[in-house]
Amino acid sequence: MEEEQGRPNQSTTTKTRSGTPKGLIDMFAVQCGKCFKWRKIHTREAFEEIRMRVKEEEFVCQTIEGVSCLDDAELEYDSTRIWVGDKPGVAKTPTGFERKVVLRKDNSRVDVYYVTPTGKRMRTLNELAVFIDANPDFKDTPLEDFTFTAPKIMEETIPGGKRKRISRSSKEHG
Ligand SMILES: [Zn+2]
Repeated sequence: MEEEQGRPNQSTTTKTRSGTPKGLIDMFAVQCGKCFKWRKIHTREAFEEIRMRVKEEEFVCQTIEGVSCLDDAELEYDSTRIWVGDKPGVAKTPTGFERKVVLRKDNSRVDVYYVTPTGKRMRTLNELAVFIDANPDFKDTPLEDFTFTAPKIMEETIPGGKRKRISRSSKEHG
């Protein structure tokens, strides 16, 4: 399998700089394969659906109801926010569970954990296996649908970072 993780193209989560509590990534965006504009995806569930399918089915603006490539971009890939690139093809989080992605305070890394339907945090596949084993209601939950692979931090979007800055010359109005 080629290295596809973290390409800043198809499937990406973002974090607002002005701060969601504790670095939780709660804004989602996907880039249109035709016009290359970024579209906000308003729920985690919808984002996960797109992220799962994006390898087979290119995301285009029209996927979102009432949106077309002629509409202005809703957000730009720049350092207004810190962006993290989720791996395309990651399975949708099993029903009842929630996948949380948290950027550490010093922006050094991203942590992934799952919250069980009973509100417990699970940080490893092993913990999840034990939970599923102990809770017959969730025995059909596919373990392979849990992915702890952390999205890649797009370092050029870290404000004030020592890394290279994004060239703004390519941005045009109109
Ligand atoms: Zn488009």
